[in-house]
Amino acid sequence: MPDQANQCYTCGARRVAIFVGYSCNNNCRFCVVADKRSFADRTTEQIQKELKEAYAGGARQVVFTGGECTLRKDICGLVSFAKKTGFPSVQIQTNGRSFSSMEFCKKILLAGMSVFAPSLHGATADLHDELTCKKGSFRQTVLGIHNVRKLTKGKLPILTNTVIVKKNYRFLPEIARLLAGLGVYQMQFAFVHAQGNAGRFYKSVVPRKTDVVPYVTEALDIAIRAKIGVMTEAIPPCLLKGYEKYIAEPGIPSTEVREQGRLVERFEDVRMHEAKIKFPQCRRCRYDSICEGPWREYPVFYGNKEFQPVTIKK
Ligand code: SF4
Repeated sequence: MPDQANQCYTCGARRVAIFVGYSCNNNCRFCVVADKRSFADRTTEQIQKELKEAYAGGARQVVFTGGECTLRKDICGLVSFAKKTGFPSVQIQTNGRSFSSMEFCKKILLAGMSVFAPSLHGATADLHDELTCKKGSFRQTVLGIHNVRKLTKGKLPILTNTVIVKKNYRFLPEIARLLAGLGVYQMQFAFVHAQGNAGRFYKSVVPRKTDVVPYVTEALDIAIRAKIGVMTEAIPPCLLKGYEKYIAEPGIPSTEVREQGRLVERFEDVRMHEAKIKFPQCRRCRYDSICEGPWREYPVFYGNKEFQPVTIKK
């Protein structure tokens, strides 16, 4: 879930991402937080305190994430608390399954959820359920999208995230077609980050970026033609010639992360200087100052030859 649906679709307002716990009713083959499942959930009081601190520090968007944040019994109360604290935007990052219940949808919308950010990793039940390791998850997530659209008459922004892995990259165009048909506001295709389950199952999960690019660009084209917002993440511009403006990273607002009582004030700095990596040849690239490079784990397996400077600096 983290590293994933992190677009600001509305504005550049500072954002806080709160990891409320790591429990999940899926067990995705690529889950980056799978190693943290046994960590205790944050308490209601801890989260309320973090919300107040973040708002006082200037954050105006909150993203509840995990784990699957909708498994918490207090999730609607937390959404309502965030709204009362003053956050204009309250986003729920979710696998979407809880939204298959119309009753749950009504409650969380009434509480004040303003952005629905579900994940969909396949265009068919067979593929999606295989990746989530949970039979029936595709049906529930798709029903959740239908339910939210129905209740809000299509007015609430739905931002989807699809994690690009070996099993699904050839089907990205089909996923884009499905999402366009479902009427989402924006779709994102995020290259897998090899931590947690994705690190453990690296060989069967992480594809080579150059193999993925033709399918990503076809998926981008489908969304562009359908006039739907679309982004891709963790694929550097040297691999996306002609599609540079659909790269998510430069548009991600400044974000503070609250995780297990720790505060990271500027997650963008962590991405740029710790979690991702650049190479000696990048110094000759015109994108050097804005490009974050691939996730640090990637070249351990695939090397850095794919990343060739776009233009020699004078
Ligand atoms: S800076 Fe490096 S990784 Fe980024 S686009 Fe240029 S060559 Fe590629």
